[in-house]
Amino acid sequence: VGVNSFSTGAALEELIIPPIQIDHSQLLINGQFVDAASGKTFPTLDPRTGDVIAYVAEGEGEDVNRAVLAARKAFDEGPWPKMTAYERSRIMLRCADLLEKHNDEVATLETWDNGKTYEQAANAEIPMVVRLFRYYAGWADKIHGLTVPADGPYHVQTLHEPIGVVGQIIPWNFPLLMYAWKVGPALACGNTIVLKTAEQTPLSALYVSKLFHEAGLPPGVLNVVSGFGPTAGAALASHMQVDKLAFTGSTATGKVVLGLAAKSNLKPVTLELGGKSPFIVCEDGDIDQAVELAHSAVFFNQGQCCCAGSRTFVHERVYDEFVEKSKARASKRVVGDPFKKGVEQGPQIDSDQFEKILRYIKSGIESGAILESGGERLGSRGYYIKPTVFSNVQDSMLIATDEIFGPVQSILKFKDLDEVIRRANATPYGLASGVFTRNLDTANTLMRGLRAGTVWINCFDVFDAAIPFGGYKMSGQGREKGIYSLSNYLQVKAAVTALKNPAWL
Ligand code: NAD
Repeated sequence: VGVNSFSTGAALEELIIPPIQIDHSQLLINGQFVDAASGKTFPTLDPRTGDVIAYVAEGEGEDVNRAVLAARKAFDEGPWPKMTAYERSRIMLRCADLLEKHNDEVATLETWDNGKTYEQAANAEIPMVVRLFRYYAGWADKIHGLTVPADGPYHVQTLHEPIGVVGQIIPWNFPLLMYAWKVGPALACGNTIVLKTAEQTPLSALYVSKLFHEAGLPPGVLNVVSGFGPTAGAALASHMQVDKLAFTGSTATGKVVLGLAAKSNLKPVTLELGGKSPFIVCEDGDIDQAVELAHSAVFFNQGQCCCAGSRTFVHERVYDEFVEKSKARASKRVVGDPFKKGVEQGPQIDSDQFEKILRYIKSGIESGAILESGGERLGSRGYYIKPTVFSNVQDSMLIATDEIFGPVQSILKFKDLDEVIRRANATPYGLASGVFTRNLDTANTLMRGLRAGTVWINCFDVFDAAIPFGGYKMSGQGREKGIYSLSNYLQVKAAVTALKNPAWL
């Protein structure tokens, strides 16, 4: 692994890279690693340098078809949907155990391919994936239907059945976590899967899916196709043999896949899309804590979070102090090689995102916001951007309306609660929101007033397996995680049996 040597100047400890090589770069279809039908490959790049990590098989329509047919056969003929739920649960628990054993290798792949800090991947994200698999393994044998009353002489029961072959399309910002949010509940319910990874980050899903086969997942149950959106992704969204589609990505692409699903077989679709989440700092709290929480709400994961608290609304009474302290905090943020200890922020995912973020920063300056810190790239190699803070941001500026998906904090001023609720909600998005206050009444008013799928009060980015996540408005349809995700992957069948000898006659 080649290493970048620059940083913001903070004294950094040694690199923490476990040795690893790329073992899996082909498509995983029917339990086998295979080349793309076309023989094509594409490079996946190291965001620290732009160098090629590996060439990966480029799946297209024909490969998606092969994968769907494998998933179809595994669903229709079993054994996965037909085995006892307890057996499925035990295989999922073994998957979790094996992943836990390989935590550090997987974290290395994730950091190398994505640029997120190794400490975040190894200590938080991979353990969360393990936890999520155990959580859904626990659900597998607790999914059951109901006995339902009828007006006539009938015995009525509902069967909660797996929906069938599930297509799943995921983004690059949390490659393995997004994989887990989709694969975990789908497997627990007894479905079979074709998953398309993001073209920027194909590596960890291949590695982990191979581990899961070692844990006893039967061939064809979990197929992984690397490739691009308009080819592999679109083929999956429009495939007639796919019974359900789950998508995470941008709102624009969400509209495309919804259209493809509608035009093909009307498969139901769940969507986890973009956001422009508000983080509201009231005047009554500890200002230093507020600064720290608001800072992590936006800068976490290089700002590449669908739920990033990217509009920081601050009460006018504490605004100036908050801006001053936020500027100081951002200037201290340690940016550098994500494999180094103590680094808080690695590079952005790729040159497209890097350029896009720099364009938004330029537009912020041109539209009259005050650049308090950052505002430019760091170093001359890789996709590093200095933590950027804008004050004096107005609601109509692009940096306040658009999802930037980068390390850019926009601080806005507000006077009272009604006003901030109205302004916070004045967006087509509704994914998440944050509130910082000591006042229970204020917290309650904001909790109910904000139109978003999550309200974090005096915290942010809490992603436990049981907590549902999803968007209002154009941030999505449906919920992932928790008990709520199960209904995405189940059909309800009403079984009505006529009784010749009803009890009451
Ligand atoms: P994207 O929409 O460009 O890509 C997401 C996935 O869709 C990728 O796998 C891509 O290959 C695929 N895709 C692209 N075009 C397609 C097409 N025509 N047909 C089928 N598939 C296609 O998004 P991105 O840039 O990879 O990810 C960032 C976006 O994801 C942000 O907007 C972010 O907010 C959102 N996101 C949302 C959540 C959530 O849970 N709501 C989580 C993470 C990311």
